[in-house]
Amino acid sequence: MAHIDNMAEQNAAPSADISMSLCKELSIALARFPRVKLGHLPTPLEPMDRLSEHLGGPRLWVKRDDCTGLSTGGNKTRKLEYLMADAQRCGADTIITQGATQSNHARQTAAAAAKLGMGCTILLEDRTGANDDPYVLSGNVLLNRLHGAPVSKRPGGADMNSEMEEVADTLLADGKKPYIIPGGGSNAIGALGYVNCARELTEQAADMGLGIDALVHATGSSGTQAGLVTGLSALNSDIHLLGIGVRAPQEKQEAMVHDLAVRTAEHLGTRLTIARSAVRADCAYVGPGYGKPTPGMVEAIKLLAQTEGLLFDPVYSGKGLDGLITLIRKGYFDGMDNVVFLHTGGSAALFGYPEIFGLPGYQT
Ligand SMILES: *Cc1c(COP(=O)(O)O)cnc(C)c1O
Repeated sequence: MAHIDNMAEQNAAPSADISMSLCKELSIALARFPRVKLGHLPTPLEPMDRLSEHLGGPRLWVKRDDCTGLSTGGNKTRKLEYLMADAQRCGADTIITQGATQSNHARQTAAAAAKLGMGCTILLEDRTGANDDPYVLSGNVLLNRLHGAPVSKRPGGADMNSEMEEVADTLLADGKKPYIIPGGGSNAIGALGYVNCARELTEQAADMGLGIDALVHATGSSGTQAGLVTGLSALNSDIHLLGIGVRAPQEKQEAMVHDLAVRTAEHLGTRLTIARSAVRADCAYVGPGYGKPTPGMVEAIKLLAQTEGLLFDPVYSGKGLDGLITLIRKGYFDGMDNVVFLHTGGSAALFGYPEIFGLPGYQT
């Protein structure tokens, strides 16, 4: 260990050069894929000083992927840059995608389709059983419709992939050219967006002279984490990446992420081996289920709104933050100096859940 530390010290400058040359190589590998510019990139990397002081742990930073643009922003913008370019390359005129009722992915896809002059059909699965007006009509559902995307509902547990295939058949029969984007935009094409984010963050931190010890974010359909795992592996990065699960149990979540990371590395055309140990998910913050509120999530959203003026969401980033905060309190990051939370967006969904915060006028 002492030997390794010593080497790292002696090689401080050359290793920064190596990391920059790996960033350049990764940029070149990514440049071979069609991409449409949709995002406001690079997104800011900002300190959260009031939260850091409040929690008394490592210095906390936020990577603002809630500021990617495209209909209030969020992590799907980066994926859609590659997915929509692929749809254009295929000559598609209509996008089909699916998600839960308050899907951020559906909303961002509807916005991207509008911007590129394509149609967009959205299938929403009732995963939570909630049927109050704000949940089924406001937040992301309102925005889908505002972007001109027809929304059609399916019961919880429906086979959403075959539902999308059926819609595609109908559109084909009407003479349209449909293109299916899987839930969350999570395939090897969409995950390229987060390979690129790993590169962006690495360059940004180097420019700021910041040594990032850990990167934490909410993980669901797994494209975000799979892209980050692939990108960080390609960069030989030793950043400790941790996904906080919002749906599946740990073993299933990690297997999903690893599988997609392997496919993403293949798609990228690298000979990278993705270590199973590079995939870590902590799924202790899901609570009663996907999209269902937990007290820790409510606390976390209020804390961030009131210490940092930042908005997080009830389904993903709020549960991710609950994980971050709880793990800081448990000493998980002890010995680390700088921990970055990747803000994946989702604040539009707050308006689908107005009652959970116990605020005046919304008490249940
Ligand atoms: C989709 C989403 C996630 C999860 O990203 P995946 O790539 O599906 O794992 C996290 N946060 C928000 C706000 C999202 O909309």
